[in-house]
Amino acid sequence: MSDCLFCKIAAGQIPSNKLYEDEQLLAFYDIDPQAPLHFLVIPKQHITSAAALTEENAALLGHVFAVIAALCRELGVAESGYRVVTNVGQDGGQSVPHLHFHVLAKRSLAWPPG
Ligand code: 5GP
Ligand code: ZN
Repeated sequence: MSDCLFCKIAAGQIPSNKLYEDEQLLAFYDIDPQAPLHFLVIPKQHITSAAALTEENAALLGHVFAVIAALCRELGVAESGYRVVTNVGQDGGQSVPHLHFHVLAKRSLAWPPG
């Protein structure tokens, strides 16, 4: 999608602080971190939000969560724990309409979220 911020980041047209990249996805640090460790994982394919996912995206989603687990092991937070969040739409607090998973760690996270 030509006018999408995260499509531009995925294409390298807008710089990001990358953690991991492969053919299907990109992980990069959030520009406005909400925890001492806060990164985003996005599919390179434009998907507007989790509300647009179908059974056809099953392999992609499995890959997203496998990469998150591997990155969290490498970053040393697998034992202490972390939170994976995807916001959907206005009430969900989504500000960028391209599917992304927040990974937050290195502090105790409150529940329920605000
Ligand atoms: P949402 O509010 O849609 O769930 O999450 C969007 C996230 O993208 C926010 O946490 C915001 O800080 C982050 N973000 C917005 N613009 C940029 C950017 O240009 N670069 C990076 N690295 N993060 C961004
Ligand atoms: Zn996009």
